[in-house]
Amino acid sequence: MKNRVGRAIVGILALLLLGFYIYRQEQIHWHSADVESWGPATGLHPEGFEAGVVMNAEPEAPIQMDYAAPAPAEPAPAEAPAEIPTPEAAPTEAPLRFDLSDWKYMLVNGDNSIDQYEPENLVYLNMTADETDLQTAYNPNRIAVDARIAEPLLNMALDCKAAGLPVFLSSGYRSYSEQAANFQRICQNNGITDGKDANGHYITMPAGCSEHQTGLCCDITDRYREIKNNDIFQTETFAWLRDHCADYGFILRFPTGKEDITGVMNEGWHFRYVGDEAARYIMDNGLTLEEFWQQFGDGANV
Ligand SMILES: [Zn+2]
Repeated sequence: MKNRVGRAIVGILALLLLGFYIYRQEQIHWHSADVESWGPATGLHPEGFEAGVVMNAEPEAPIQMDYAAPAPAEPAPAEAPAEIPTPEAAPTEAPLRFDLSDWKYMLVNGDNSIDQYEPENLVYLNMTADETDLQTAYNPNRIAVDARIAEPLLNMALDCKAAGLPVFLSSGYRSYSEQAANFQRICQNNGITDGKDANGHYITMPAGCSEHQTGLCCDITDRYREIKNNDIFQTETFAWLRDHCADYGFILRFPTGKEDITGVMNEGWHFRYVGDEAARYIMDNGLTLEEFWQQFGDGANV
């Protein structure tokens, strides 16, 4: 009997010890797992630990996409619906019209002499536009122009200089008598009597037929040139003046290819004032002053 009781006690004690041992093992295991799962990303987490709960796992792509996605664009402001003008509401653009009796359009050429005409008021400009004052007293060291074109001419010269290009105001107003002397000298130098080259185009105008007598034009070169010739077309100064002259109310008066219309050889230095509106129209359309007169003669519209 004693032996049976003793074995039972030993058995119970053994079961208790086993149970305690198992309990302790479970405690150690879970404690260890918790520590490793929150520890540094050393890959030391217990085997079988689910990768999905490791804190250093790559963030799921969709979350990143959400952050990277640009903020939704503001809805574009609705454009004002284009107004369809009714015939009554449509702005009526005044037809282009020029009063050719205006002084700005004075036409002087081999067929139109102004005889002994003299401008009422002359002003004198510094030839290199280094001095910007406009002198009204006679000054032989400056060029004279009609006072009405002095300011736009000076502005054009100054802006050309500001663009980094050399400017020389070579010749402005010439009186009837000065032109008569010019004509005689140039004819003699070229062995001609009518002022025309072999193609029948004027290289010098008879007195009364030169635009220089109006005071409304100016020969502009990049430097003093004793003889003006086609070299001027290669200069940047010419290109700038050709491209910008209309902004100041000037036109290239004797363009290449229009010699039969103007009657004058092409002159890349001769710029004539006609006012902003006409200058824009003439230069944009590649016209000459003669063609302008043909279009607008008798106040005709285009
Ligand atoms: Zn000229």
